[in-house]
Amino acid sequence: MSFSSEIKGELCAVEFKRECCLRAECYGAWLFSRCFSRKENAFVTENGAVARRMLELAAAGAGVSGELTFGVSRRQKPAYRVSLPEESSRLAMLEEFGHTGQETSLRLNRANLENPCCAAGFLRGAFLTCGTATDPNKEYHLEFAVPYRNLANDLYTLLCEVDAFPLTPAVAARKGGYVVYVKESGPIEDLLTYLGAPGAAMELMQVKMYKEVKNNINRKTNFETANMDKTFSASARQVAAIAAISDTEGLESLPEELQELAKLRLDNPDMTLRELGQRLGITRSGVNHRLQRLLRMGEEIMEKRGISNML
Ligand SMILES: [Zn+2]
Repeated sequence: MSFSSEIKGELCAVEFKRECCLRAECYGAWLFSRCFSRKENAFVTENGAVARRMLELAAAGAGVSGELTFGVSRRQKPAYRVSLPEESSRLAMLEEFGHTGQETSLRLNRANLENPCCAAGFLRGAFLTCGTATDPNKEYHLEFAVPYRNLANDLYTLLCEVDAFPLTPAVAARKGGYVVYVKESGPIEDLLTYLGAPGAAMELMQVKMYKEVKNNINRKTNFETANMDKTFSASARQVAAIAAISDTEGLESLPEELQELAKLRLDNPDMTLRELGQRLGITRSGVNHRLQRLLRMGEEIMEKRGISNML
């Protein structure tokens, strides 16, 4: 199931508590459904819960009875078609919310959001018919697709006015229509909770936490790998230098305190300085100092013989 259908499933289970909010949700759902007009049109959805909720809203919120038939979605999947086949029902729906269907441009009629409580219901309805949210594993993005510019701007303004939490939506033109969208995870979480989908908001929060933990682990692993590489290349350089001494003058030529370390390093290229020191009973900086001497001697030999230490 997509993240959008999860959200919509949760929203469709929200109980109607107040008459005013039910009407507002009905208005939001039908206004953005593309069948809020005098002409016959249908709203097609693959989501059965959304289709049923629209009919319920039409009946309870506007006293209008719609029709549910079956069809095929744009993705060629079985879908539900919600429509108002009777012209009288279409007019009744328009009139209920103070529209005539003759307006040159479809706008949001604020008179239908009587009380401050109604904005949430209205936006829930709008999301049911024109909203989508991207899988948070991919991207934090929630949008409302609106066919008309003025209506998109009205929706944008309404979202900006939600005072329960700060929201910074944006509007963009897309494919002959408009989208009003929200990008960041925090505001999307707040908006989902506000609309009545706290479960989806929680899921988004968990995905975000999981991503953060994963990033931290990656960062740590990269850091450790980088450190390890440094140890290895330093050690490889020492081994090459010691090998050069061993192959030419022999390790026996070395002063006694260097001989033991040289052998130990040759046999244990991956030991840290601390570990080498523990073996020899000297400090880490003592080991470092001796290794520097071995390096200088070995690299001098390599230089004289024209061998470059590539490491
Ligand atoms: Zn209300």
